[in-house]
This record gives sequence, structure tokens and C-alpha cells, in this order.
Amino acid sequence: MWQVQRHKEYRQKILHLYKPLHQDLYSMHPSAFFLPTFLEAVRTNTEESLASIMTEPTPGVFSFAMLQPNFCDMLLEEVENFEKWVHAMKFKIMRPNTMNKYGAVLDDFGLEAMLNQFMEGFIAPISKVFYPEVGGGTLDSHHAFVVEYGKDRDVELGFHVDDSEVTLNVCLGKQFSGGELYFRGIRCENHVNSETQHEEMYDYCHVPGRAVLHRGRHRHGARPTTSGLRMNLLLWCRSSVFREMKKYQKDFSSWCGECQREKKERQIQCVKATKLAFLRGGGGGMI
Ligand SMILES: [Zn+2]
Repeated sequence: MWQVQRHKEYRQKILHLYKPLHQDLYSMHPSAFFLPTFLEAVRTNTEESLASIMTEPTPGVFSFAMLQPNFCDMLLEEVENFEKWVHAMKFKIMRPNTMNKYGAVLDDFGLEAMLNQFMEGFIAPISKVFYPEVGGGTLDSHHAFVVEYGKDRDVELGFHVDDSEVTLNVCLGKQFSGGELYFRGIRCENHVNSETQHEEMYDYCHVPGRAVLHRGRHRHGARPTTSGLRMNLLLWCRSSVFREMKKYQKDFSSWCGECQREKKERQIQCVKATKLAFLRGGGGGMI
């Protein structure tokens, strides 16, 4: 509880003292933030219109061109401005999560309301269609941050799952090589360390302005950014309804790759046992 209180005070102090560089970022301006193709698809809001702008390179991972280059630049400059300010103020910056030592939580310096509209207006319509089984239709909170990879920053990120139902990951720039996002199958809590099947392996190369959307439980990591500086916007979208329901569920075969595999295995065993019983019962040679 002490940490929660401390974080609340930290956020309030910043909100009170920090002067934004780009005021335009702090309220939602869809046509300035999003590419026309993306906006059109979300406004039409049908499964067909959304699917038309997306690729699904591996099951459950969707990629699409999303952000205006100018929005990416403004957000990068705002984050850099905030970090400079935090440094000048001799504040101890709170980093995005337990794994990233560089980057900043966007919700901490005034972007929370805009990012909430970002999620509700532009991510929820997509996740409702593509991730209904993990609470994609009932997203109600978020954690938004920017991560920084490169020289004098984080280099890579180990294999993990996110504390989210649905994660949006958008590359903001700048120039870099490496830093591919690798995927290793979707797993429930019970199976988070189970083996990866060959067909579950997929590597994605970041392109500035382009988004990747995946379930939080889709295991992934980031390969080393070998040169330059790479910054990505992460929006962890959560559903309190899904988290509550999950407590009473044991079978996650609608989305967990390992639950699915076990279920299939059980069915095969069941068919085998039935056949065997039939043979033993003198059923004849029809099998
Ligand atoms: Zn499972």
C-alpha cells in the first residue's frame, strides 16, 4: 500500500509541476494522430473493414499501419522532454515495469485521459472482434508507457507475458537495426513455461508507425537492438470483468495453446480407449 501511495504522490507532483512540450498530445485528435486508412476502418467498424487493414502473420498477432509520422515524432519529443525535466528536477523516475530500466510511464505525466480515449475508441473496437475470449470486449483500464532500446538503453527483453489482456505495441522510431519482437505461443498461467511448438515461433520486424496487437498471454520477447535507438509505445489494455471470471475457470483451451494440446491429446486417448473396448468386446474387424 505504501508503494501505491508513493506513486500517487509522485504522479500528483508531476501533474502539478510539469509543463508539456506538445499540448496537442494531451487531448484526442484522431485525424492528427491516426492514418486515414486506420481511421476509416475503425469508423466503419465491421469485422471486414478491420480485417482489410490487417495482416495476421501468425495466429493471434495482428499488424497494421496506425500512427501518423508527426504524432510519433511529437510523442518521442514529449517523452524526451519529460525525462530531461525529471532529471533536472532530480526526481527519481519510475520506470514502466520490472523489466525495462529505460522509458517512461505516459499515464504519469498527464496523458492518461487521452490514452483512455485511445484505448476505448481505437483499440476496443478491434479487440472486441479479434479477442472476445480474453475480455477484448470489456477493456476498462490501461497501463501506457514508452520503452527505449539501444546503446546506453535497454538492449533486449527476455521471454515474458504482459500484465494485460490485450497489448498494443507501436514502433515510434527512430533509426535502428535489430530489435525484432519474437513470439512463442499463447499460454494460461498454468502453462506459462511449457514447451513451444514449432508452428508457434514467429519473429516480427518493427516498422515506425506500424502497430502489433496481441494477447497479453502471448509469450514474447525483444531481440537485441544492435544499433541506433528504438522507441516503442506500449498500451497494456485490461479487463476487470475478464480477470474476475478467470478466477472460476480451469480450462483455457479457447486461447491457451497448451490447454488446446492437452484437450486434443485427451480426445485421442478417449477414441483409442473406445476402439480398444470395442475390439475386446468382440466387435469385429471394422477398425
Ligand atoms: Zn493452459
